[in-house]
Amino acid sequence: MANDCLFCKIIAGTIPCNKVYEDDEVLAFRDIAPQAPTHVLVIPKKHLTGPAAVTEEDDSLMGRLLRAARQVADREGLSDYRLVCNNGAGVGQSVFHLHLHILGGRPMGWPPG
Ligand code: C5P
Repeated sequence: MANDCLFCKIIAGTIPCNKVYEDDEVLAFRDIAPQAPTHVLVIPKKHLTGPAAVTEEDDSLMGRLLRAARQVADREGLSDYRLVCNNGAGVGQSVFHLHLHILGGRPMGWPPG
């Protein structure tokens, strides 16, 4: 846990969230500013600042994260959806705790802006 991290505070329960999934290693909650009809964030409970902070030690955790995302998408009734994981402020990362965005429920263009 990082004391100054918003998502660590959500994991600790000191900041509320609209939770959709939780297990011992992963939490998923609805994004506070949804960019699609379904917009859920899937985060590891371990504090990692972003994808660039992932090491070999996290191999199994990353599998858990992706499987949790798939489970949430299934529960939300999504067959088509986008997973986004920003690394760095230059591409839009604003919270420096690793998270997957699940975005679905509307058509999306490619490449992303
Ligand atoms: O990838 P990025 O770091 O920009 O994503 C952070 C996401 O966290 C944003 O989509 C933002 O709306 C969301 N957020 C949230 N609840 C908060 C603060 C930020 O869902 N309390």
